[in-house]
Amino acid sequence: MSEKMKSYIEEAEKDLLHTYNRYQIVLDKGEGVNLYDLDGKKYLDFVSGIGVFALGYGNKEYNDALKNQIDKVIHTSNYYYNVPAIEAAKKIKKASGMDRVFFTNSGAEAVEGALKAARKYAFLRDGHTDHEIIAMNHSFHGRTFGALSVTGNPHYREAFEPMIGNIKFADFNDLESVKAQVTDKTCAIIMETVQGEGGIYPATKEFIEGVRALCDEKDILLILDEIQCGMGRTGYMYAWQKFDVKPDIMTTAKALGCGVPVGAFLMTERVGQRSLAAGDHGTTYGGNPLAGAAIDKVLDLFEVKHIIDNVREVSSYLEKRLDEIKDKYDAIIDRRGSGLLQGLEFDHPVADIINKALENGLILINAGTNIIRFIPPLVITKSDVDEMISILEASISV
Ligand SMILES: *Cc1c(COP(=O)(O)O)cnc(C)c1O
Repeated sequence: MSEKMKSYIEEAEKDLLHTYNRYQIVLDKGEGVNLYDLDGKKYLDFVSGIGVFALGYGNKEYNDALKNQIDKVIHTSNYYYNVPAIEAAKKIKKASGMDRVFFTNSGAEAVEGALKAARKYAFLRDGHTDHEIIAMNHSFHGRTFGALSVTGNPHYREAFEPMIGNIKFADFNDLESVKAQVTDKTCAIIMETVQGEGGIYPATKEFIEGVRALCDEKDILLILDEIQCGMGRTGYMYAWQKFDVKPDIMTTAKALGCGVPVGAFLMTERVGQRSLAAGDHGTTYGGNPLAGAAIDKVLDLFEVKHIIDNVREVSSYLEKRLDEIKDKYDAIIDRRGSGLLQGLEFDHPVADIINKALENGLILINAGTNIIRFIPPLVITKSDVDEMISILEASISV
């Protein structure tokens, strides 16, 4: 490592709050599916900024759209209309089949808004303020208080108790355990369509359709968190579109702006008419012209570049290659996932493998201690998969 890179890392460790154990590289620029550190070393990126940079780095049309918008105006205020946000809303409605959009600046904020909308819906229905929300064990919904309150990882919550009240937890993919938590006060069930941070667990068809039927029966709102698994990653624009279900409220972020910090929660017209109204919710930045321009261009490029077709083609190849690796090494006990969101579960911690891969020029990340997560840009090719597999194998010590 150069002195220059080393001294930046030392400065970072002095100045930034130490909330991350960072890998020992300073990333400097990106091109396509590759990132480069300050010393010019090249890395194949199978993390994409945790599912953000779906289109790959340095996409000219995307960059130009942002530059044009910067030259016009970056920010106005939500007290006025702006064309990029209006265009973005139209396109995200079309992509999702939902009816009403609220733009946020992050995933966690999208979850916050979704929870508020659900509580308001129930409040308008019966005037009570003691409604309950059911969330899933091993879920992840973000680090703010509301989002953390529905995150099914006690370790993340413990030091920050008390959480927001009236949250109950059930087991993902276990319909009976969800039914056991339902009471007259239940106003919403929130879950990821594919659990990401919790270990790459896709919802089963029986489970998600069963939860939908349960919600219909009891007038409970189904909130699907598509922040990680959405935006084409599973081979569908939103992962729930694979099933015979539609959420009442959904959240999206990460790849939505491909790097510009944006998120959104969306709802059906029915919920839109009976939940958050003027004065109930707000944000200074959410859906500003720069954010709107990013979302608008991202959704355009998804169509023009046939991103979803590429995901379907390359992900079946990725699954095949990962299955071969799984069969080859005794330490690998499972391969699971959906589309270009895959996990390899080992019988031991994977930190050493990830560090070794980094040394060998491959960026990977974990999901839990024993699972390597594969969440590459959605524009990868089969030959990128081959390159990743060969570096991965070189990084697994047997
Ligand atoms: C990343 C993530 C979030 C939180 O998004 P932030 O932008 O980090 O606040 C919420 N839900 C899921 C499923 C995520 O993967």
